[in-house]
Amino acid sequence: MESARRRVGAIVRLLRRRYPRARTSLDFGSPLEILVATILAAQCTDERVNTLTPGLFRRYPTAEALARADRTELEGIIRPAGFFRNKAKSIVGAASRIVEAYGGVVPDSMAELVTLPGVARKTANIVLSAGYGKAEGIAVDTHAGRLARRLGLSREEDPVKVERDLMALLPRKDWLDFNVLLVEHGRALCTARNPKCPACFLKSLCPSAGAAAAPGKKKR
Ligand code: SF4
Repeated sequence: MESARRRVGAIVRLLRRRYPRARTSLDFGSPLEILVATILAAQCTDERVNTLTPGLFRRYPTAEALARADRTELEGIIRPAGFFRNKAKSIVGAASRIVEAYGGVVPDSMAELVTLPGVARKTANIVLSAGYGKAEGIAVDTHAGRLARRLGLSREEDPVKVERDLMALLPRKDWLDFNVLLVEHGRALCTARNPKCPACFLKSLCPSAGAAAAPGKKKR
């Protein structure tokens, strides 16, 4: 990991230069809204979630309202996001605990957030960074995991282990925006299939440059 430690500072600088306005593409106006939107975004595009959430948040503007939601009605609203029964269960469960344990306010610590039903470290990290501007970890979604491996920052598949590797490599001041920078790059150039290595501004720092897209090679 010594070579990763040497490269990671330059990687962050170049990513920030290329994506100066990187932020989550989920629309939200409060910690509760980013929590709900992130639950909905599992295995769904952010664009589709953004078409659902304005109506959802008008109908249920508070944790209390979500906790009391009629399950069938809620499922009907979020159905286009897929896995709507599980997602409705998580949203109502999380909202109920927020009301019962936290006075209706989304908690602002990792230790408390991961006690909410349906909330693991990835969602908690997004709520903390986007909703509260706090960095207690680094959200690792499919883009971040793929890019961390391609960039030689982790060899792990398990997102929690990838996060542990990234937290060991990056100074805490860089944790806050690292996920959104990787997501931007994963969408723009380092796509899951056919990454555009020849055009990539990170290619001199990337051990997978060229290899990630080579026919017949294992995709990473
Ligand atoms: S060089 Fe290729 S594999 Fe490496 S970050 Fe750029 S696009 Fe991804």
